[in-house]
Amino acid sequence: MTPPIVYDLLVEGCILIASAHEAPVLDAAIGITGGRFAFVGRAVDLPPGATAAERLTLPGHLCLPGLINVHTHTILSMVRGSAEDMGFAPAYTPGVPQGHMVTEDEAIALARLGACEAMLFGSTLINDTYVHTDLTLPAMADLGLRVFSCNRIHDVDFSGIAHGRWEYDAAAGDRLLEQAEALAQRFHHKPGARTGVQLAAHAPDTCSPAFLRRIAALSRRLDIPVQTHLAQSKVEVAHIRERDGMTPAELLDDVGLLDDGLVAAHCIHVTEGDIARIGRARVNVAHIPKGNATGGTIAPTRALTEAGARLCLATDNMHADMVEVMRWALCMGRIQRGAVEDSWAPEHMLEAATLNGAAAMGMAGELGAIRTGWRADLVLADLRRPHLTPHQDPFGSFLHTGHGRDITHVVVEGEVIVRDGRPVRADLETICREGAAAAAALWARAGTGR
Ligand SMILES: [Zn+2]
Repeated sequence: MTPPIVYDLLVEGCILIASAHEAPVLDAAIGITGGRFAFVGRAVDLPPGATAAERLTLPGHLCLPGLINVHTHTILSMVRGSAEDMGFAPAYTPGVPQGHMVTEDEAIALARLGACEAMLFGSTLINDTYVHTDLTLPAMADLGLRVFSCNRIHDVDFSGIAHGRWEYDAAAGDRLLEQAEALAQRFHHKPGARTGVQLAAHAPDTCSPAFLRRIAALSRRLDIPVQTHLAQSKVEVAHIRERDGMTPAELLDDVGLLDDGLVAAHCIHVTEGDIARIGRARVNVAHIPKGNATGGTIAPTRALTEAGARLCLATDNMHADMVEVMRWALCMGRIQRGAVEDSWAPEHMLEAATLNGAAAMGMAGELGAIRTGWRADLVLADLRRPHLTPHQDPFGSFLHTGHGRDITHVVVEGEVIVRDGRPVRADLETICREGAAAAAALWARAGTGR
């Protein structure tokens, strides 16, 4: 007689949506062993006598695959509640704390604040870029979530950008490329680690064409994909037109970066030709609907996806709620067509936030669904709250009225990293206190008195 199975962790009693487009399983059980899903199904179908070292018994909870946020700047939690109303990205806005002002200790405190928020709200993987990433990457990963990160790679002098000066410095660009390569050697897909690196070419206008070609060459040499901001602003488009005589998407194509490995954030100010080009290249579009709408813009996600682009979702900065982002992406797509269509439904937003995000991060077939053999990342949300009651259609209720703060438990690689809405590995109050202190110091130095 074979001995009964003992899972490392058994999640039971919940309503399971194992993958986008799959029907809910009531009274589900998910057995996890060695960081991988070992059983996924109805509790009544568990192997006879199966038991577990640890159990999460959570009736009335919705269990989903972990959410994948493909574009964040956790340190920019420092401009939360202020930069949203300034009309443009913080990096281009005078009077706002800038990356070059952030000290190492401030970077760590703010990155942990942003990563903690993301994790509590159900992101099991974030793709983060900003400054001091050699320190912030491990500091964020210590919280337990998966962290991809990279320093901002550019050869423009950022201190001039907020004042409308694009001055390129090849030596500074070289240093940032070297930093990115060193970061990749330390953190990219190391066995047992939850970390990775995507080369973060900042934007077409903050990188000269020659420098973009060097980033493309490094990407090929290291076999590490590239992420960038693309067609984020009219200023960027105008600058590329003046500098290079083309659109930002044409420039990325010209330098060899526009391909199915690229994660391109925003894609707002694109021409019909750009949309076709981005679609043909099967680019991963990091759609940031809430951030874009806050700034009064909208990305043509319906046309982009119909042209062949892969829709992924992201929060960018100032908040980290991927549940809200799924809802905003659904609505923004419907506004583009003035209609509710079967091809743009809640399950497509879940697909974008899970399976598509996993593919964009080079982890297709390992992350993005709760499937036997896949890496054991999942989130659980309490549906028993008034705003989620009733839940005839559990995911419908969650998508239309849920929030990140409804998530109570988060599991990454089989480890419970959020329990009852609190981080397991770190003290929440300390993270908030240190993040707030860092932001206050930066705003004071930025000269706004805020
Ligand atoms: Zn961004």
